[in-house]
Parts: sequence; structure tokens; C-alpha cells
Amino acid sequence: MVGGGSDSLIGVVHRIAANMGDNFNLIGGAFSIDFKLAESFAAKLELDHTRVYKTIDDLIKSEHLLPENERMQVITVATPNFLHYSMSKQLLEAGFHVICEKPVTTTSEEAIELQQIAERRQAVFAVTHTYTGYPMVRQMKSMISEGMIGKIQKVDAQYYQGWINPVIHDPEERKKVWRLDPSKAGSSCCMGDIGVHAFNMVEYTTGLTIDSVLCDLNMLYDDNLLDVDGSSFLRLSNGSKGIIRASQIATAEENNLRIAVYGDKGGLKWEQENPNYLYHVIEGQPMQVYKPGNPYTSDFEKKSVKLPSGHPEGIFDAMGNIYNGVAAAIREEDYFDGAYPKIIDGVRGMRFIEAALKSNAKGQVWEEI
Ligand code: NAD
Repeated sequence: MVGGGSDSLIGVVHRIAANMGDNFNLIGGAFSIDFKLAESFAAKLELDHTRVYKTIDDLIKSEHLLPENERMQVITVATPNFLHYSMSKQLLEAGFHVICEKPVTTTSEEAIELQQIAERRQAVFAVTHTYTGYPMVRQMKSMISEGMIGKIQKVDAQYYQGWINPVIHDPEERKKVWRLDPSKAGSSCCMGDIGVHAFNMVEYTTGLTIDSVLCDLNMLYDDNLLDVDGSSFLRLSNGSKGIIRASQIATAEENNLRIAVYGDKGGLKWEQENPNYLYHVIEGQPMQVYKPGNPYTSDFEKKSVKLPSGHPEGIFDAMGNIYNGVAAAIREEDYFDGAYPKIIDGVRGMRFIEAALKSNAKGQVWEEI
């Protein structure tokens, strides 16, 4: 791992997820900007201290001195956004497979370059859009592709958080948050951090592409540089329309990601805070509720649960499913379409963020993705 140390939010999710399918062992890494912290953290995990590195350069150099069968195979990049591109590029060029956090880069050009390098090096490159790993999201994808809701005519994705509310009203507090600093976060806070997950969920579940957006962003204060809230109207590749609503100032909301997709036969609705329920509304019939691990679910869903029905699974399991997809890809085994988000999903995400920003800057006009 690079980043993801004990001083991080997302590192623990990756570590637990990596273990879930018995496919990965954590060997070492450059876990933290604070090397002392990284060392004590690695000691707690009883990692070999010779595989705990100060920088990514040290990691690459030292791992390359080892015989290939002892070397790390896959590196997870879980640092703040501005480091994803340079670190992933170095790692790919050095022959590692990469699992990188989102947003995959800070520009679409960088993301496309990573895509090209990964293709040239025949490396597996995953972008951790974690929510695609939930069994009921995969069930939703399967049901939509099987035509169970008919022709899609409306999508509505919402991602509401409130954690920036206590921060945003005080310029001094804002300075402590890297997600509000363009030099660390890139050109967007809200759309880049969470709007991009909603975007990915729409394309993932529907199998459609979002072709253009009309976006209205809110920075809340003139001296705050990045968006903390925004709404994007969508035009999709089958002619249907929709909306992405994202906010980090939806006061007191926690991690309220929801997606609803409606076709001409019915609709499917899922929410992250109650992830084991998928609601199927059907024209003229009572609503049905799907749950993981049941005989009526798709093969892809069944492959994404570990225990019999009735044992709730959550965010760690969702990320675990993505790690399992990566393992299958590295071993060149068969895997379901959508088993892990790829670099192309990272490229699409960057294009969405850029189009949303452009649309807003031009005075809320339609912008192609
Ligand atoms: P964080 O600030 O909590 O942690 C960042 C980590 O990176 C820390 O351990 C820090 O010490 C380390 N780091 C910083 N610079 C480094 C360097 N030069 N070398 C090595 N380590 C370094 O951030 P976070 O909230 O964990 O977010 C990290 C990334 O994960 C972001 O890109 C974020 O968008 C993404 N993220 C994704 C999800 C998801 O649902 N997939 C959720 C949260 C965060």
C-alpha cells in the first residue's frame, strides 16, 4: 500500500477488503507521509520492517532488488488525489498492478495516459468505486441488463453528506481539509469526491453512458475555491434523462448515496445506508424487495456474497468483492463484467468532473462528456 496508513480514513477498508477473499497478503508499503507513524503502524501489523518504506521511490527501488516471486505484485494507492497520477504512473512503469483510489487523477489527460500505460504494460488497473461491489448493486445491474425494468427512461442518483457544514463557515477550519485545497484535491471537491461515485453508479448499473451534463455548483462562500454542493442534469446514450445531486453541506447527512433507475416496466431503487435491500417497483403490481444470497438473485450477485442469506454485508465486503475481481483478472481467470472498476471508469469519471465544472463556469450550459 501507498498511503492508507493509520492516519487515513480509507486505508483500513482496503486492508480488510484485501483479506476477504483469501487472495492477497499485505507485504508492506509507504503507508504514511509521517514515516515514524508508518513504522509503528507496520510493527503493530507485524509486517517485515524491511518492507516498510519512507517513499514510493524507495519502495520501487528496493522491491526491484528482490527476485520476482518475492516482489510485491499489486500496489494500492490510497493517498490524497494529487498523488494518484504520478504514483500510479511510476508503479505501472515499474511493472506492478495497481489498485488506485478515486478520483483516479486530477485531469482526464492524466487518466488517459494511465490507461495507455496500463494497456502497454498489460497491467491490471482498478479504480475503487467501492459501491459497485455491493451485492444488491450487482443485482440491480443484472436485472437492468436482463430487461426487468424495460427501456430506461429516468435515472436519479443522490449522494448527500453533511461533514463539510461544520468546517465551511470558518476559513481557518477550511485550511485543515485537503479536500478543499485545489493543490491536493484537484479542481473539484464535491463532484470530484462524491459526485463521481454517483456518476459511476449510473453508468455501472444502467450500462448506458452519460453523454452530457448541465451542472450548477455551489461554493457557498466567495473565498472558498472548490464546490461543496452541486446538481447535474444528465442526458444518457439511449436518449433518456436524469440527475445527479451531490452535496457535502447537506447538514447532518452521513453517507446518503441512493440510486433509482426507472424503465417503462418498473424501477429499481437502492441506498448505501441500507445496502442489503433492493427495491423493485413494478407497474401495476406490489413492490418486491430483493436481498443478498437468495436463490432468486443473479449469478453475479451470488458470486458477490460469502454467507447464506440473512447475514448482512457492508462496505468492507463491497470493497472485498472489488479486490476479488482484481485477483481474478491478475490470475487471468473468468470474471463477471463489472467485477472491478477499470481505468476506463476512472477516465469517464474525470471527464464527468471536467464537464460539470465547465458547464457551471460557462453559466450552466450543456457540456459534452
Ligand atoms: P486521508 O487524508 O485520511 O489519508 C491519506 C493517507 O495518505 C494518509 O495515510 C497520509 O499519511 C498518506 N500520504 C499522504 N501523502 C503521502 C505520500 N507522499 N506518501 C505516502 N503516503 C502519503 O485521506 P482518505 O480520506 O483516506 O482519502 C485517500 C484517497 O481515498 C482519496 O483519493 C479519496 O478520494 C479516496 N477515498 C475513497 C473512498 C471510496 O469510497 N472509495 C472513500 C474515502 C476516500
